[in-house]
Amino acid sequence: MSDYYATLGISRTATQDEIKKAYRKQAIKFHPDKNEGNPEAEKQFKEVSEAYEALSDEKKRRMYDQYGADAVRGAAGMGGGAPGGFSSMEEALRTFMGAFGGNSGSESIFDSFFGFEGGGGRSQARQGQSKKAAITITFEEAAKGVDKTIAITCYDGCQKCQGSGAKSLKDIKICSTCQGRGQVQQSRGFFSMSSTCPHCHGSGKMISIPCGSCHGAGRIKEKRQLTIPIPAGIDDGMRIKMAGQGDAGDNGGPPGDLYIYIRVKPHEIFARDGDDLIMQLPVSFSESALGCKKEIPILLSGSCRISIPEGTQNGKVLRIKGEGLPNVHRKGKGDLLVHIQVETPVHLSEKQKKLLTEFGKLEGPQNSPKKKSFFDKLKVFF
Ligand SMILES: [Zn+2]
Ligand SMILES: [Zn+2]
Repeated sequence: MSDYYATLGISRTATQDEIKKAYRKQAIKFHPDKNEGNPEAEKQFKEVSEAYEALSDEKKRRMYDQYGADAVRGAAGMGGGAPGGFSSMEEALRTFMGAFGGNSGSESIFDSFFGFEGGGGRSQARQGQSKKAAITITFEEAAKGVDKTIAITCYDGCQKCQGSGAKSLKDIKICSTCQGRGQVQQSRGFFSMSSTCPHCHGSGKMISIPCGSCHGAGRIKEKRQLTIPIPAGIDDGMRIKMAGQGDAGDNGGPPGDLYIYIRVKPHEIFARDGDDLIMQLPVSFSESALGCKKEIPILLSGSCRISIPEGTQNGKVLRIKGEGLPNVHRKGKGDLLVHIQVETPVHLSEKQKKLLTEFGKLEGPQNSPKKKSFFDKLKVFF
C-alpha cells in the first residue's frame, strides 16, 4: 500500500507549494537522465510522479485522503490510469513535464532541473530575426494602393516537435560536457575561467534523437507566400512593417517582424512633392500671350480642360485642388500643380519672321509684365 505523503516526504497538511517543491527535489534525484540503467531509480521516479499527480490535484487529493490510492488510480484523467500506479515511464515523464512547464518548450524543464527559476536560464527565449524585402510598384499603383504577393524564405517554428528540436520530449538530455550548466570551467594558473560549452553552445542540453522534420533545429526554413496590402499614397522609400512575419523565435521567443521597403517607379509625366503631384505643361509663346484652353492628363482619371489666362508667364504654377495623391495616412488628398513652361518658338518660316518683325515694331514697355522694366532700371546708370 503506497503512502503518497511518505513517498514525497511531506506531512498530510502540506500546501500545494510544499508538494511541488518536494516533488521537484525527488523527481530530479530520480530522473532517468541522471540514473541511466538504474531500475530502482526508475521505480522511485514513477512512484514520486504518481504521488505528485494525485496530491497536486485537490479533488484527487481529497479522494486519496478518504479512500486511498486505488480510488485515485481508477479516477478519470489519470493519464491512461492503469491500475496499480504508473505503469510506464511515459506517464511519469508526462507528469514531470506537466509539473515543470514542459508544454511551453523544453527550457523550463531544464531550468527546474538545475534549480533555476525562470528567466535566469542560459538559453533564453530570443526574438526571431527581422526580415527585409523590397517591392517595386508603378506610380499608378502607389496612387491607388495595391495588394502584392511576395515569396519570402523565413524560419518557421517546426510543427512536428513544437520547436523543441527533439523527436520527443524524452529525447532532450542534459549536456554531458557541461552537466547542463552551459558553461565549462578552465583553469589557467591561478585563474579559473568559464566559457560557453562548446558541445551544447550554452544551452545545457543535448538532443539524443532529433526531430525528423527539422533535424534538431526546432525551426524550419520555409518559403511562404505573403500578400502585402500597400496603402494608397505610399511614397518611394517608405517601409511597411508586417509584425510577427519574420523568423520564428528561439526557445519560445516571439517571432521577428518583416519590413517591406517600397520602391515606386518614376512616372513619365508626373512627379510628386509630398501628396502634391507636379507636371510640366509646355505652352507656346502665342498661347501664353493670348490665353488658351489646354487638355491635361489627370492621374488615374483621364484628363481635364484647364484655362491658361492671357499673359501667363513662364514658371507660373496653376493649382488644381484635390487632383493630387491620397495621403498615405488617409488625411485628405494633395493638389495637382501645373508648372507652365513658355516656349520660345524655333525654326521660324520667312512668313513667321516677317510677322514677328512687324509685331516687334509695335512692342513697347507696356507689354512687359514687370511694373518697372529692366530698361527703366538701366536709366539710373546713364
Ligand atoms: Zn554543454
Ligand atoms: Zn522539429
